Amino acid sequence: MSLQSTQAIVIGSLDLGEADRLVTFYSRQFGKMKAVACGSRRLKSKWSRSTQLLTHCQLVFYEKKNNQLHRLRQCDIIHPYSGLWGGLKKLIAGLYVAELVTRIVPEGEESGELFYLILKVFNLLEQEGDPDVSLRIFEIRLLSMLGYRPQIGQCIYCKEAIRQNSKISFSPLKGGVICSNCLTHSQSGQITVSAGSLLFLKQALKLKLAKIGRLSLAKALKPELKEMLHGYLMHLLEREINSFRFLEL
Ligand SMILES: [Zn+2]
Repeated sequence: MSLQSTQAIVIGSLDLGEADRLVTFYSRQFGKMKAVACGSRRLKSKWSRSTQLLTHCQLVFYEKKNNQLHRLRQCDIIHPYSGLWGGLKKLIAGLYVAELVTRIVPEGEESGELFYLILKVFNLLEQEGDPDVSLRIFEIRLLSMLGYRPQIGQCIYCKEAIRQNSKISFSPLKGGVICSNCLTHSQSGQITVSAGSLLFLKQALKLKLAKIGRLSLAKALKPELKEMLHGYLMHLLEREINSFRFLEL
């Protein structure tokens, strides 16, 4: 058992026995990890603020091997993201990010890139950025990091480059776009998308992290882009994302 330290973001928590709590973190150095906060459910627990959902903190923990649960020794707040708790839309968007990471990211795979993406999206949400824009950027970059980048430049059937003015569909099942000539292959569940939405996704993937806050999305494109990425995520996860339905509020 060795003592480790890392920056982390609280993405989930679960009561454990009568007094303890199992906290899920996305950490800078160890990826997604779980640790027990002993006595966390007692009144005046030293963990109560620092292990609140969406908090950015500095952890010190006893690392256990062989899939055993790590044990928290210290958890200090770096940034509480209290601004996210000040508005329902921002909070739900933050919880949606945490749930996606909890559900789709494998445990123990380190990715500093994903760690900083989560922080960047939380910062944008806290600074009153458009939640629709921030969440679509998060989804497409997360999918890409995990090796699930959808094929959006060429038709998945004929491999021709997608023309701007043609009718384009997206297949969540196939994870890519279909040109107008190949729509005869069509199956149910396809989503009609515009060239503008595909351009937004390309920019969201290409821009440096520090610059993603500059992206904007036309109001008319928001519903189709949301449906497209949600459909694809649902296909990959094989079930609904609980917090997704609250994004409508
Ligand atoms: Zn085609």
